[in-house]
Amino acid sequence: MKYKSIVVAVLLSLMHSHSMAVDIDKLQLPEMGDSAGSLISPLEERMLGAAFFRNLHNQAVINQDLEIQQYIESIGQTLAANSDTPTSPFHFFVVMDPNINAFAGPGGYIGVNSGLILLTEAESELASVMAHEIAHVTQRHLYRSIEKASKMSIPTVAATLAAILIGTQSPSMGQAALMAVQAGNIQFQIDFTREHEKEADRVGMQTLSLANYDPRSMPTFFERLQQSTRYYGKGVPEFLRTHPMSENRVADTRGRAETYPYRQYPDTIGYLLAKTKLAVLTESDKRINIQHFSALLQQGTPLQRAIAQYGLGLVELESLRFETASQIFQQLSEQFPEQPQYLTALARSASEAKQYEKAHAIFTKAVRKFPNNDAIKIEFTRSLMKSGQAQQAKDLLLSLSDSQKNQPFYFEILAQLFAELKQPGESHRYTAEYYYAVGQTEEAITQIRLGKQVDNLSYQLMAILNDRLNYFMSELEEQKEQRRR
Ligand SMILES: [Zn+2]
Repeated sequence: MKYKSIVVAVLLSLMHSHSMAVDIDKLQLPEMGDSAGSLISPLEERMLGAAFFRNLHNQAVINQDLEIQQYIESIGQTLAANSDTPTSPFHFFVVMDPNINAFAGPGGYIGVNSGLILLTEAESELASVMAHEIAHVTQRHLYRSIEKASKMSIPTVAATLAAILIGTQSPSMGQAALMAVQAGNIQFQIDFTREHEKEADRVGMQTLSLANYDPRSMPTFFERLQQSTRYYGKGVPEFLRTHPMSENRVADTRGRAETYPYRQYPDTIGYLLAKTKLAVLTESDKRINIQHFSALLQQGTPLQRAIAQYGLGLVELESLRFETASQIFQQLSEQFPEQPQYLTALARSASEAKQYEKAHAIFTKAVRKFPNNDAIKIEFTRSLMKSGQAQQAKDLLLSLSDSQKNQPFYFEILAQLFAELKQPGESHRYTAEYYYAVGQTEEAITQIRLGKQVDNLSYQLMAILNDRLNYFMSELEEQKEQRRR
């Protein structure tokens, strides 16, 4: 397909008069091909990445299902550990969007659309796309492709990048450039070039192979991507817009893949279960899933049939037929006792049928058996909350691992629990954190102000609220200033 250069505006520069102040005038853009390490410091990159991720929530639905999140994170980290920069930070997440896309933002934030995951027919295909995105990060393509930098703040850059990469803003249009002009009369160019694509394919394939996935899956999936355009005529998949596919790219990749010895690469159960759950979560027409899973029941290995049963069970659960769902999950969890997803689904069936005693007995057993599994704890927390046991729910929520404690769902549930526990100051505090985490800083400020009006706040909570208010205000001020410039 034809090469498109994407003129967009963006950029990097730096903010904050706080301790991380950077003298913008001293920033030198590297030559193309430079290591680019000088363009942005690791701290600035982390801040930009976090701002980028918060902003994405304004423009896309980010998956909040922890089982799916755990899966994408585990496959992503396995690949990252086999990349050129195994120690740099990576964050993986699923975007609930039927468009076929995956993207690498700043700070190692890599998103994969549900549409792309559902298009894969093998785990190695998904891994090949993720390895390609990881390579864009390790080769610093985003930074290398930026041609002009200027005084745009991190929040502005983060918002612009989010819009481009998620595809709400067509990269081939002047729209993005227009937004940049409005944001600061600055032209900033990001090229998604053929050279970068080739490099990401080459480096990505090494990672793929080192991480024990099938290198041949890369050309196979690229071919399917191109075919999906032809068959469905839905236009070019977003992935191909931001990752231009030259005529010989598939052939090159195929040639390179053939140099690896041939062998079988079976899918993990984690992949099959996550994909099945995603299919149920994203397809509103239940009949399609019932047909699909019923057909799978007639073929395949016992493991594949169990996956199809799991899919049918989830459809039953969504259809509020708790008894049938419960029977399916009971059988599966007896047959595969080491699979936490089946036990969790069994407990959920009881909880949604409002059989809380039964549900909590199963959850308790599951937590004991899989003590580090946050997905079970979060479902147990929700169930305790529904049954009116807010204090127990809060204690359990606080026992989640630290990596969950900056996620929107964590703040949202905590805010609800504090409301039920009649602690409105804390409730406003965490509602504010929720809004901030999803890129709505003005709403966050409103919540902090409401929190400060609550009677009899402790000195400690008041100090926290004041501190957060200052922080949110300074970020907002910076965004506004950017618009005025
Ligand atoms: Zn690419």
